[in-house]
Amino acid sequence: MSGKVRIGKTDLYANPIGLGANAVGGHNIYPNLSEEVGKDVVRAALENGITLFDTAYIYGPERSEQLIGEVVKEKGMRQEIVIATKAAHTFVDGKIVMDNSGKFLKNSVDDSLRRLQTDYIDLFYIHFPDETTNKAEAVGALKELKDQGKIRAIGVSNFSLEQLKEANRDGYVDVLQSEYNLFKRSAEKELLPYTAANGISFIPYFPLAAGLLGGKYNRETTFADRRGKNPQFQGEAFLGNLEKVEQVREIADAIGAEVAHVVLAWYLTRDSIDVLIPGAKRPEQVVNNLKTLEVKLTQEQIGQIDRIFQA
Ligand code: NAP
Repeated sequence: MSGKVRIGKTDLYANPIGLGANAVGGHNIYPNLSEEVGKDVVRAALENGITLFDTAYIYGPERSEQLIGEVVKEKGMRQEIVIATKAAHTFVDGKIVMDNSGKFLKNSVDDSLRRLQTDYIDLFYIHFPDETTNKAEAVGALKELKDQGKIRAIGVSNFSLEQLKEANRDGYVDVLQSEYNLFKRSAEKELLPYTAANGISFIPYFPLAAGLLGGKYNRETTFADRRGKNPQFQGEAFLGNLEKVEQVREIADAIGAEVAHVVLAWYLTRDSIDVLIPGAKRPEQVVNNLKTLEVKLTQEQIGQIDRIFQA
């Protein structure tokens, strides 16, 4: 298990740097993606020691899971890795709605198993809450699948504290995945304290704020994808965000690291954050993100970064 960490109270162990795979086959998220590059991203991860792969039915839809399944099979590495996937989205009259019913989740697990060409999923999440299903019952359905060996751990994603508490009524929730990064720290108020107190692993999504914390954008950068419509990437807010990133660069330069690695290393100092799933659109980014493991931040640097993003 050397170099691997335990994910919360589960029996899953992984390299702390995983791969967020929404850009692998995720044409509905990022336009003009090449599936071959997506497969190369997964190959690069497998070849360089990444062991946690985060995907979902809706990435593609279906294509991210399918491409990961193909590459993992090609490499014969299923036993060595942790595959996390999610479901909740369904299409009704052409519109997306969420479904957390036990029947839907059980069917979704079977569909994901087929697309991933595997007979177990290491971590299965309810991707988003629906408005009607009792969350403890939804998680109860996943517990049945865990007892049958179809999944090894139970996750929920995008749940409020109230929904998380209901979901965890019987103590079955292993992982919470929520948006959290240096620009969006609201999870620190309630969610992170709850996960830390209850042995739940917190996996932050958008750890690089969709690239904004990657340290390579400047005031001239424009975004043709959906980031262009995100207020964080526009006008004064964008310029203010870039300034904060430049302050992180000073810390990064002083220790010979890159901004993205310092940012990722900072999250790993937080209670209940065991592993990260930065996204990547190219194999080089996957390999590059692994350099995070070489960064050791001092208490002083941890506090400095904290303060930059409090302002
Ligand atoms: P992210 O990790 O915050 O940002 C990834 C982007 O940052 C990359 O696509 C790349 O964008 C840039 N990047 C990556 N490595 C870099 C490096 N070393 N240096 C500089 N820039 C770098 O955003 P994300 O990929 O959207 O989210 C991560 C994962 O979280 C997803 O893949 C998905 O698995 C998960 N997620 C889950 C949910 C949920 O509802 N549960 C929602 C969203 C995401 P450019 O090349 O364009 O700069």
